[in-house]
Amino acid sequence: MKRIPEPFRIKMVEPIRMTTFEDRQKALIEAGYNPFSLKSEDVYIDLLTDSGTGAMSDRQWAGLMMGDESYAGSRNFFNVDKKVKELFGYEYTIPTHQGRGAEQVLFPCLIERVKGDKPAFISNYHFDTTAAHVELNGAKAINTLTPEALDTTSYYDWKGNFDLEALVKTIEQHGAENIAGVIITVTCNSSGGQPISMANIKATSEIAHKHDIPVVIDSARFCENAWFIKRREAGYENKTIKEIIGEMYSYGDMLTMSAKKDPMVNIGGLLCIRKDKKLFQSCQIRCVPMEGFVTYGGLAGRDMEALAVGLEEGTDEEFLNYRIGQVEYLGERLRKGGVPIQYPTGGHAVFVDAKLMLPHIPGHQFPAHTLANELYLESGVRGVEIGSLLLGRDPETGAQKPSPLELLRLTIPRRVYTNDHMDYIADALTSVAQRSEQIKGLKFEYEPPVLRHFTARLKPVSH
Ligand SMILES: *Cc1c(COP(=O)(O)O)cnc(C)c1O
Repeated sequence: MKRIPEPFRIKMVEPIRMTTFEDRQKALIEAGYNPFSLKSEDVYIDLLTDSGTGAMSDRQWAGLMMGDESYAGSRNFFNVDKKVKELFGYEYTIPTHQGRGAEQVLFPCLIERVKGDKPAFISNYHFDTTAAHVELNGAKAINTLTPEALDTTSYYDWKGNFDLEALVKTIEQHGAENIAGVIITVTCNSSGGQPISMANIKATSEIAHKHDIPVVIDSARFCENAWFIKRREAGYENKTIKEIIGEMYSYGDMLTMSAKKDPMVNIGGLLCIRKDKKLFQSCQIRCVPMEGFVTYGGLAGRDMEALAVGLEEGTDEEFLNYRIGQVEYLGERLRKGGVPIQYPTGGHAVFVDAKLMLPHIPGHQFPAHTLANELYLESGVRGVEIGSLLLGRDPETGAQKPSPLELLRLTIPRRVYTNDHMDYIADALTSVAQRSEQIKGLKFEYEPPVLRHFTARLKPVSH
C-alpha cells in the first residue's frame, strides 16, 4: 500500500527516547504490569489516545498569542461562535473545558424535560464518559449499534451505524416519553473509530423526531466521519468536506464536542444548540457553576483562539487523506504481518483483535491488556486495552462482565508521528504475533473497586 506523505513540514521537534528491553522490563514491573502507570518518558511511541495529543499548527500557536483573557465577552469566544455557525449552522455556543464538560452541562437539562419517570438515552454506542454522565444523572444509557460491528474480520463500510430496527424497538419498549435524547456518535469511537453513513444519520434523526426526541451529535471526530462519507457513500464524492458536515449537522438539534480530537487542541470542548433558546438558557445557567462563565467555559481566551483555528484546519481534505491514510497504512501492514484487526480500519486508531491473536488467554486473564504489555516490552510502544479490564464487574453479582470484544487500541495522535514510526510499530507487533502462543495472561495483584483499568496492578499467571 502506498504511503501518503505528510502534508506539513516540521518546524519544532520534541526528542523521544528509545529504551532497552531491560529498561522496559523494569519500568513495567514498577508500573504493576499496567501501561497506564508508566511514566511517559519511558514510552517511545505513545498510542494511548488521540485526545489532546495532536500537534498544533503554526497558525494555532500564533493564535495563542492573540488570547483575549477578558472574563466576559472575549473576542476569541466570538471567533469560535462564528466558526460554529459557519460549519454546523447552530445558533448558540457554549465553550467547555473538554467534551465531558459539555455532557455534564447538557444531559441534566435534557433529562429535566422528560415527561416519563425512567429517563434513558439511546446511542449507536455511548462513549465511556458519555455513559458515565448519563448514569450519574440517574438515566439509562442504551446502545443500538449495528451488529456488523462485532465481526472484526469482515469488511463493512459503516460499522458505526445505528441498528434502526433496534432503535425503533428500544423507543417503543421504554416509551418515547422516557427518552431524553438520541446520541449519534461520529465516528463511533467504541466500535473502532468507525463511520456512520449520511443515510443512517438521516434515518436515525427522522425516527427520533417522529417521537419528539431531540438528537445530540457527539462530535469528537466529525471531520473524519465526513471524509468517510465522501469516500464511501454514493452522491457525496463531489461534495466538499464542509458541505458534508453541513448536511450531517442539519439532522441534529445540538452537539457536544471533545475538541481534543479532530480540532487538534490540547484542551477544549463545545456545547452548541441549533435554535432552542430555552434549552440554551438552562445550559448557560448550569455552565456557570460547573465550567465557568458562559463565554469561556473553563478555557483561557488563547485556548479558544487555537480552537477556532483548529475547527477550520480539521476540515482540510488534504490533511484528512493523509491522516486516515496513515491509520489505514498501519492497519494494512499489520494484516500482512498476520495480526488480526478490526477491518476496515477506522479514522483514528487501529484496533487489534486480541481474542483472535491470543485465543488461549481467557477474558478474565485480559488478553488485550496482556498484548499491550508485550508490545511495550518488545518496542516501547504504548497502546491501550478496550476489553474485559475496562468493562469491569457486574455491580450486582460481582462477576467479570463478559466482553464481546477484546481489543488493543493503537490510537494515532494527529500530525505527531511519521509514516516511519508506523513501520516501526507494525514490525514490533508482527514479531509479537510470531511468538503469541508463548504469551501468558495476567491476574490482579490490586483491583480498585471502580474504573479499575487506570490504577490496577497485575502480574503474570504462573501457568
Ligand atoms: C473523547 C470523547 C468524549 C469525551 O471528551 P473529553 O474531551 O475526553 O472529555 C466524548 N465522546 C467521544 C466520542 C469521545 O471520543
